Amino acid sequence: MVTNLEPGTDIAANLLAVKARIAEAATAAGRAPESVNLVAVGKAHPGERIVPALEAGHRIFGENRVQEALNKWPALKEAFPEARLHLIGPLQRNKVRRAVALFDVIETVDRLKLARAIAEEMNRSGERRSCFIQVNTGEEPQKAGVLPADTDSFVAACRDDLELPVEGLMCIPPIDEEPSLHFALLREIARRNGLDGLSMGMTSDFEAAVGFGATHVRVGTAIFGVRPPFKG
Ligand SMILES: *Cc1c(COP(=O)(O)O)cnc(C)c1O
Repeated sequence: MVTNLEPGTDIAANLLAVKARIAEAATAAGRAPESVNLVAVGKAHPGERIVPALEAGHRIFGENRVQEALNKWPALKEAFPEARLHLIGPLQRNKVRRAVALFDVIETVDRLKLARAIAEEMNRSGERRSCFIQVNTGEEPQKAGVLPADTDSFVAACRDDLELPVEGLMCIPPIDEEPSLHFALLREIARRNGLDGLSMGMTSDFEAAVGFGATHVRVGTAIFGVRPPFKG
């Protein structure tokens, strides 16, 4: 694992290394390397630190705070219009309009009121944004996400009643548990709901996630280095 990167560390080289590891894990699992999308997580890093990844040709990025993304990404998207931005952190209903305007994919749909607000905003604005349902696979009280037992009915409500473009499921396993159990559970819930997308795996476990069928891995530290402390 890459840790303690100093500023100026070669982000393009880190990206290549992560992509090579993804390709190796995919091949080992009998999967095509292109079936795995790398979401480069630039949260807590300034826009200048994300530019080298964009200049290297990378196009899929993730941010976990709406306000931070609103500060950083309009300028980056203007310079690199093909960049696609995923929201991977919590979304409050009062930020849905701005989130639907900025993000291309919302990975953290986890409550009916939020799902309804997103659907209404997409209808109002005419924008279509792919959605992932966040599942709290570890059933952690403090963590966002739909409980596994409630996921089938929640997916049905989002897809059939609200007509949200639900692409798949997303999870963040508990930090102190073997992630593979959670990856396998997420894969099973997606399978029985006929969903293809699986957003799972971070710096410490993305290769295992690829082995369990991840279509999206969300990697920050291995690309951009250790995050500076969060400010405000
Ligand atoms: C920060 C974050 C990541 C990336 O974490 P790393 O360990 O730095 O790769 C992935 N997913 C979510 C939801 C995150 O908040």
